[in-house]
Amino acid sequence: RVLKCIGANHVVVQSDRNHSKPEVFTCTVRRVVRTLSRDSRNPVVAGDHVKFLPVNETEGVIERVEPRDRTLSRGSRREAHVIVSNVDQAVIVASVDEPVLKPGLIDRFLCSTEKGQIRAIICLNKIDLGDRVQLQRLVGQYARLGYPVVMTDAVQGEGIDELRRLLIDKETVFTGQSGVGKSSLLNAIQPGLWRDTGEVSGDTNKGRHTTRVTELIPLEAGGWVVDTPGIRQLELWDVAAEEVEGLFIEFRPHVSHCRFPDCSHTHETQCGVKSAVERGQISRLRYKNFLRIVSLENRHVRNPAFEV
Ligand code: GDP
Ligand code: ZN
Repeated sequence: RVLKCIGANHVVVQSDRNHSKPEVFTCTVRRVVRTLSRDSRNPVVAGDHVKFLPVNETEGVIERVEPRDRTLSRGSRREAHVIVSNVDQAVIVASVDEPVLKPGLIDRFLCSTEKGQIRAIICLNKIDLGDRVQLQRLVGQYARLGYPVVMTDAVQGEGIDELRRLLIDKETVFTGQSGVGKSSLLNAIQPGLWRDTGEVSGDTNKGRHTTRVTELIPLEAGGWVVDTPGIRQLELWDVAAEEVEGLFIEFRPHVSHCRFPDCSHTHETQCGVKSAVERGQISRLRYKNFLRIVSLENRHVRNPAFEV
């Protein structure tokens, strides 16, 4: 398993996750692997399963990359490149307050995870700053769609055991706006896991992580957390407007009742999705967020996640 890539060097750990002292090798890549790769810029990325031949006790050469599954990419639709592969799940972190709760942003992230076919877990952090009864409605909305929701207070430790259990033996990426508490949560899960817990500040967080590389960090209980600067900064987005209807999972059974096969579920009459909203089968909030996402996408906003 590739833990991280620094230029031409790839840190590879032998696949046995429960090995008491895993052997780590620094590997280069055989040129033919690069030539045969679909992504010649990133023939090997963190998360890849590879076959390598050791050169000595600490170094080796990657001879083969196993087919990738469940990848996350960065960049525009036309020029996306894979940054991490074989991701099992994403924890979408939102904070109840500071920064203010934005369900629209949760729905955007859910589109990304649905597109990548990655299981999504929603983590509502900073529950100490909100009214639980009110939050319960939002929690219920997502839980009914089948997304696990965990409510946490990273400072007091509430909900952390539950979150920790969901990570065991999985490769998990944490995503969410800056300041919602991702680093705090990870350090609550395992002390020292994350090295830079910052304060909420006006800066966009951009400068802070530019030198970091994507990396898999092992969890004591088994499993990995992906540290990737891009994903922490909401660059997960790679979805076209026409695709969005399919990524709102509760819309799927209703689209076949639309009169027009290419119905956009916005202005059309006889729209199955709009009827379902009227009947209360689709939440008005989700439908509103759908409309915002497709209108932003139609305007070709390069990274609409920042616009919410
Ligand atoms: P990140 O940018 O998502 O990694 O967010 P951080 O983990 O750096 O947290 C941002 C700020 O929120 C820090 O000052 C944390 O101490 C604070 N914070 C994190 N979790 C909680 C929480 O559950 N409750 C409260 N009140 N503050 C929190
Ligand atoms: Zn429709």
